[in-house]
Amino acid sequence: MPITRTSGHDVIVVGARAAGAATAMLLARAGLDVLVVDRSRAGADTVSTHALMRGGVLQLHRWDLLDQIVDAGTPPVRRTTFTYADDIVPITIKPAYGVDALYAPRRTILDPILAQAAGTAGAEVRFGTRITGITRDDAGRVDGVEGFDEVGNPMRCTARWVIGADGVTSAVARAVGAAVQRRGTGATAVV
Ligand SMILES: Cc1cc2nc3c(=O)[nH]c(=O)nc-3n(C[C@H](O)[C@H](O)[C@H](O)COP(=O)(O)OP(=O)(O)OC[C@H]3O[C@@H](n4cnc5c(N)ncnc54)[C@H](O)[C@@H]3O)c2cc1C
Repeated sequence: MPITRTSGHDVIVVGARAAGAATAMLLARAGLDVLVVDRSRAGADTVSTHALMRGGVLQLHRWDLLDQIVDAGTPPVRRTTFTYADDIVPITIKPAYGVDALYAPRRTILDPILAQAAGTAGAEVRFGTRITGITRDDAGRVDGVEGFDEVGNPMRCTARWVIGADGVTSAVARAVGAAVQRRGTGATAVV
């Protein structure tokens, strides 16, 4: 079976959703040669609710992507209500930092907008591409990834940096032995 090889990227990002696509976009906008891969298909949904807090909306605004979220029909959230036992606390979203509303776009809207922005910025975006491991140079430094391309052929790609944005069970983090710096635990659950 032929092996697809690419080399010479500055960065390979594994995972092309909120973290990966946004990172790829920013690095490509900064002029780096970026390859971003994801094993899912382009536009695929994922398990999540969709509420973006102000920080997320602010970033989309700064990156000139908020208009696309709004144009997709995502309704603005200008008021929210917290209910604590018998206490009902309505909160009006204050306009600040260029953000006058919060948004809760579906992932089928948010993630493709980010992936497309990465591509528009010059990153090579490949879906259907599964990474099975990292590769290392003779000195033991990570120098790329290996896996299977869109048609199931084995592939190897090299780069100066590899970024794991492959989710909460990140195989990249495991492969490099990344230390856990902060671990959250669920105190409550709501259905
Ligand atoms: C039930 C639920 C509700 C949530 N609600 C909210 C909310 O309301 N608001 C909010 O901000 N956050 C919410 N979150 C959290 C949010 O979904 C995550 O923080 C966010 O998806 C993380 O984005 P990410 O890009 O880091 O990873 P992910 O979205 O997990 O994306 C990782 C990507 O990496 C790809 N990948 C993984 N392994 C490989 C591999 N080996 N090769 C190639 N690709 C690979 C996957 O296909 C995937 O597309 C919720 C999460 C859950 C589970």
